[in-house]
Amino acid sequence: MIILNVKTTYVPIHKGIAKDVICPICNTKDSIEIIIYQKHIDTGLVYNTTNKLSGTAYCTNCKTEIPNVQWTPEIETVFEKLKAESQIETPGKKYSIIFKILLAFLALVAFGIGYALFSAKATADDKRAILENPTINNKLLIQHQVRESLSQFNDLGNSWAVIRIVTGDTIIIQMHTEKVPLDQINGAMPPTSGYKGKIYKIKKDEFRTKERVSEYHQEKGMGLNYAYIWSFQKE
Ligand SMILES: [Zn+2]
Repeated sequence: MIILNVKTTYVPIHKGIAKDVICPICNTKDSIEIIIYQKHIDTGLVYNTTNKLSGTAYCTNCKTEIPNVQWTPEIETVFEKLKAESQIETPGKKYSIIFKILLAFLALVAFGIGYALFSAKATADDKRAILENPTINNKLLIQHQVRESLSQFNDLGNSWAVIRIVTGDTIIIQMHTEKVPLDQINGAMPPTSGYKGKIYKIKKDEFRTKERVSEYHQEKGMGLNYAYIWSFQKE
């Protein structure tokens, strides 16, 4: 929460003695000094030099400030004349560095939210497109485990795979030889080359409906035992 301490200042910009004007309080002539002020407003974040002018009338004889309601038409006339002569400071707003930082921060937050929504949607769109229509060169980030023998499993971690062939009910993928560390799988981008690892055949139907990579043909019970797709990336 930001607490604003608004300061209003009336900056004197012009003054003059009201010639041939009588003080409504002590009836002395030529004793009223009129001062013209320009209003400034400082919120701490924005400094606003307004174009609002006001005035005071002070009698130098009876040492009294004459309230606005007691101003005679003659005082009003001199006030208007002095106002018209005043060299006012150019009205305008100045924004503090904090205000600019705040604006930049809000813009960044808005951009971040927009970008997150956009990339989440792009990712979801990619995933749907690939599941519906797997195509050569689509990439899949897969966490997988292979069965080395009937009783031995080998967890191979996370690696990218590329779709090499799509034919009939079969998709053939080839794994990348490098692993993606677990702390880097969010937002990981697939390598463009280096897909020289193991080759697996997977069932297109199961891939589409269950988002699963299960090996279509297992030789002697060996091969891919378990696979989970972390992300889908179109070419
Ligand atoms: Zn007076």
